[in-house]
Amino acid sequence: MKTTAKPTGGDGDTYAISGQKIYITWGDHNLTDNIIHLVLARLPDAPAGVKGISLFAVPKILPDGTRNGVKCLSLEEKLGIHGSPTCVMEYNHATGWLVGDKHAGLAHMFTMMNNARLSVGLQGVAMIERAYQKALDYARQRVQGRAITGSDDQVPIIRHPDVMRQLMEIKAGAMAARTLTYHAAYFMDAGDDAMTALLTPIVKGWITDLSVDLCSTALQVHGGMGYVEETRIAQLYRDVRILPIYEGTNGIQAMDLMFRKILRDDGAAMGKMMDLARQIAGTADDQRLNDGLDHLQSVTDWVLDHENQVERLAGMAHPYMHLAGITLAGVFQTKAALRADQLLEAGQDHPIYHETVKMADFYADYYLSQTAGLAKRCKQTDLSNSPLD
Ligand SMILES: Cc1cc2nc3c(=O)[nH]c(=O)nc-3n(C[C@H](O)[C@H](O)[C@H](O)COP(=O)(O)OP(=O)(O)OC[C@H]3O[C@@H](n4cnc5c(N)ncnc54)[C@H](O)[C@@H]3O)c2cc1C
Repeated sequence: MKTTAKPTGGDGDTYAISGQKIYITWGDHNLTDNIIHLVLARLPDAPAGVKGISLFAVPKILPDGTRNGVKCLSLEEKLGIHGSPTCVMEYNHATGWLVGDKHAGLAHMFTMMNNARLSVGLQGVAMIERAYQKALDYARQRVQGRAITGSDDQVPIIRHPDVMRQLMEIKAGAMAARTLTYHAAYFMDAGDDAMTALLTPIVKGWITDLSVDLCSTALQVHGGMGYVEETRIAQLYRDVRILPIYEGTNGIQAMDLMFRKILRDDGAAMGKMMDLARQIAGTADDQRLNDGLDHLQSVTDWVLDHENQVERLAGMAHPYMHLAGITLAGVFQTKAALRADQLLEAGQDHPIYHETVKMADFYADYYLSQTAGLAKRCKQTDLSNSPLD
């Protein structure tokens, strides 16, 4: 990090910020009169490394109405999200104000980044839902092939079991990802910092990986029409690809989960989450969920037992994040289904309650069954001596 901040010498309140930063989303645009940049920079007396980074507020237009030394040098040419300008920004002796404490910039920035990580997870949910709606609509309209059980005429492709499978996979993924995101939001509202921190990398990492897979599945439902531009599903597929990359790649989310959220507190937060999960699983009495929780527990125990094997743990962090995501989303899906069951039994009939129960059942068969393989992948994969030369 080479951007510098030098006191301007006036009342000691302002600093001259100089440096460049690539990849700045909405770094410049004309939709608002002013743009306030939050910029990380080093003060002259800064200690080396991340402990020497401070945070500054740098406006495009200064309070006296003059233009600050902030300029967009160019726009990045991207795979997707063409509605979101990604800018190369230059700060040339730009006036900035210190935010928070000196040399504590990274910690301050994480207040925003943790929030952004949860929002990107939610963006993943929205992309899956949109992809599902488009695929469902197309599958109802496209007539191709006869029913596998026999039919006089050709049928809409939604009648073919393999298309049904794909649509159910997308729909169940959207519902499960949504319940996981909402529970992270619930823990945040309840002020439960440990649970929020534990779920943040899982929401960001697992859901956004899932969103790429499921947007691809939705494109597949469209056949050749998915690959051409008329149906617009290709745009979703391009746009969704950024989610596992920005706000910290999913590899970094997995490392955050493994080392900061599991090992640093000796598994305490995950233990608390598992207690809650076991209560829900106990009420549901569902073997598929219990199996998923057993797999998550056994890998978590394995991690805690091998805390010194950091290379091994870093190499399995990503499948562990997926194991945690699939399992915990299953817990919250089951919780939703239990509530729906309760309401149905109380005579409150509504299609959404039946659907919630059915989707949780499908999720348990289709997604939770992956936990056995993921647990094996975590414990067995050894990357030492990988032939990558
Ligand atoms: C469209 C777009 C918009 C963006 N918007 C913003 C923005 O508004 N503000 C902003 O500040 N940034 C923004 N970014 C930057 C974005 O957050 C980074 O690109 C992202 O965090 C990855 O960092 P990197 O590009 O340096 O990749 P690298 O760090 O070079 O990573 C390359 C690969 O190596 C892996 N890797 C790297 N280090 C490790 C490690 N220690 N352990 C394991 N794996 C590792 C990564 O997971 C990745 O797979 C944006 C990027 C894009 C593409």
